[in-house]
Amino acid sequence: MDQRRPLIAGNWKMNGLLADGVALAEGLAELSRQHDGLPPDAAAEVPPDVPLALPCDVLVCPPFTLIDRIVQAVAGTKIAVGGQDCHEKVSGAHTGDVAAEMLKDLGCRYVIVGHSERRADHLETDHAVRVKAEAALRAGLVAIICVGETEAERDAGQTEAVVARQIAGSVPPVATPATVVVAYEPVWAIGTGKTATPEEAQAVHARIRKELDALLGSAAASGMRILYGGSVKPGNAAELLGQPDIDGALVGGASLKVEDFWAIAAAAK
Ligand code: PEP
Repeated sequence: MDQRRPLIAGNWKMNGLLADGVALAEGLAELSRQHDGLPPDAAAEVPPDVPLALPCDVLVCPPFTLIDRIVQAVAGTKIAVGGQDCHEKVSGAHTGDVAAEMLKDLGCRYVIVGHSERRADHLETDHAVRVKAEAALRAGLVAIICVGETEAERDAGQTEAVVARQIAGSVPPVATPATVVVAYEPVWAIGTGKTATPEEAQAVHARIRKELDALLGSAAASGMRILYGGSVKPGNAAELLGQPDIDGALVGGASLKVEDFWAIAAAAK
């Protein structure tokens, strides 16, 4: 589908002290400026009609502690910044949590919700993920909603049933291609070096799009971006991104190296 511009999103997870994060973001910003033909020291806002030379949108999701500085480091480029999670409420007595509105206030445009590490470590249910996605929409952020089966579920032949259930339970019924991105991340492939084959990933993405069609209607489903995540690297990105229903990548480990992340972005069609 021509209208689905690929999105390459870096999930830095709980990595990076201030100097590391700023160096990484400045490295990406420098490459972005070169590709846009902008002067290296361009500080001004990029006019909206200047396309990012890469054939995709590029996003970095640093830890909360770095977001403010990373937004500054990529200013003047088209690299977007996002959070890795948000709370469902606008404000209040929720110690340690961060509201979607707070992320928006810092300059974020996206937030990841329902990453499998949050589903596992913080016992987040599909319902909890959906209300976080709704909070993102309320704040004017794009929600990247993650789904994916565990190795045991895969071995039991339940992959499609699991992702179908997660889509039905986690995606708000008001989602549109402008407000929601889905990320399919098989849990057994995250940080393991194992990757779904392009054909396996394509089959699950097609099934996800079918579920989105049932939930949101065909126009929304055909326009919604579905990212693949799970040990995406420069060496396997082009083949994965070449599949018809794979509209980008959510990248963990390889997003921590400027050259690797940029090579993955450059592989997007
Ligand atoms: C992720 O955490 O979303 C991820 C896909 O990690 P990795 O690329 O390291 O497998």
